[in-house]
Amino acid sequence: MILPIVTQRWFTAQAQDTKALGAWLGYKAQPGDIFTCCGVLGAGKTTFVQGFADGLGVGTEEYVRSPTFTLLQEYHGRLPLYHFDLYRLSDISEVYDLGFIDYLDAAGVVVVEWADKFPALFTDPHLEVNIRVISPDSRCVLCTAYSVSYVRYFL
Ligand code: ADP
Ligand code: MG
Repeated sequence: MILPIVTQRWFTAQAQDTKALGAWLGYKAQPGDIFTCCGVLGAGKTTFVQGFADGLGVGTEEYVRSPTFTLLQEYHGRLPLYHFDLYRLSDISEVYDLGFIDYLDAAGVVVVEWADKFPALFTDPHLEVNIRVISPDSRCVLCTAYSVSYVRYFL
C-alpha cells in the first residue's frame, strides 16, 4: 500500500498561474517520475501539462493538447514526456494494451490525466496533482507526494 506523505495546496487565479506551477514541477522533473492529474472536465489538467512541458524544455512547436483521441502523446524536452489521457478508457485492460507499464519504467517522465479512474495503476511512488474549480478563473491545486522521494517538489 502506498500512502500520501504530504499535501501542498496552491491557489491559481488564472490559467497562466496553473501553467507556471506546472512549469516549476516540469523544471524539477527527473527520469522515471510519475505525475497523476485529477479533476473534472475543464478543471485545468491539460493546462497544467502545457506548463509542465514548457518547464521540461519541450519546444513551443510541440503544442501540448489533451491526447483524448490518441490516448498518448510523446514530447521531447530535456527528458521524454509521456502524456496520457485515460478519459475515454473504461477498462484497465485497455490501459495495459497501450503498454502503459513499460512507460512507467522508462527514462522519461509520465503525466496521466484522469489517473483517478484507475487507482490500481498507481501503486508506485508518484505525485498527485488534483485540480478543483473554485470559480471560472481560479483553481485550488492540491499536490500530494506519495513517497518521500517526491517531497523535493515542494522545496
Ligand atoms: P482539463 O484538461 O482538466 O479538462 P483544460 O486544461 O483542457 O482542462 O481546460 C481548462 C480550461 O479552464 C482552459 O480553458 C483554461 O484556460 C481555463 N482556466 C481558467 N482559469 C484557470 C486556472 N486557474 N487554471 C487552469 N485553467 C484555467
Ligand atoms: Mg485534458
